[in-house]
Amino acid sequence: MGRSVLVTGGNRGIGLAIAQRLAADGNSVTVTSRSGEPVEGLSVVKCDVRDAESVDAAFTEVEQAQGPVEVLVANAGITKDQLLALMKEDAFTDVLDTNLVGAYRVAKRAVRGMMKMRRGRMIFISSVVGLYGSGGQANYAASKAGLVGLARSLARELGSRGITANVVAPGFVESDMTAVLSEERKAQIIGAVPLGRYAAADEVAGAVAFLASPDGGYVTGAVIPVDGGLGMGH
Ligand code: NDP
Repeated sequence: MGRSVLVTGGNRGIGLAIAQRLAADGNSVTVTSRSGEPVEGLSVVKCDVRDAESVDAAFTEVEQAQGPVEVLVANAGITKDQLLALMKEDAFTDVLDTNLVGAYRVAKRAVRGMMKMRRGRMIFISSVVGLYGSGGQANYAASKAGLVGLARSLARELGSRGITANVVAPGFVESDMTAVLSEERKAQIIGAVPLGRYAAADEVAGAVAFLASPDGGYVTGAVIPVDGGLGMGH
């Protein structure tokens, strides 16, 4: 059996590409989804990252099936875009609760097992907009910037236990999340990206696979942009 990997929101989009890549690299991979519906070729557990009990139950199931989680990919995320003047408070707190507090919940549940094993990799999926900013996405950008502070603090806290914590910051990727953008907004985005295109989800998965691999063993507290140059390495 390969290393025990859990990818939150790995049932579709970027998370699915990450899960498939880590499985192809020889790991034992489980993905979470809120429905618990099967995903071809991967084990699935039901989990809502807004609920600590649901997170705990999902981890217990994974531990029984494939051992304590050694590689955690905190990928689950949502958007609720709106200009600040019009943004209701629950649009702000819902996005923070899923994207940032959800990442805290899964990291907290994973850390005990990793500390016992004295090894582990935590990889948080942020976004270019966390550091770049994005009009109409104050909630989302704040949640994604928060992941950087979370990961860097965990890198400091857990380094002595052989646990790394890193962030992957994708630019714009073809997925359900970006399918809702208008053609005008998509053209605007592509115009600002030096590589002049969206990323494929597999290109994000490649950076995650590196951080999870032996080659990534001395990398911690890093933010790896996979954004076609949009953030110029920030
Ligand atoms: P999708 O909208 O395609 O998928 C979102 C995933 O998150 C789904 O698997 C969904 O599960 C899961 N999810 C949402 N809410 C919860 C919750 N409360 N509990 C558990 N799982 C949840 O998004 P992408 O694949 O595009 O995005 C994946 C990650 O990458 C996100 O964190 C996103 O912010 C980030 N990202 C995306 C970019 C893009 O351009 N697409 C760019 C930069 C970052 P379910 O199927 O159950 O709803």
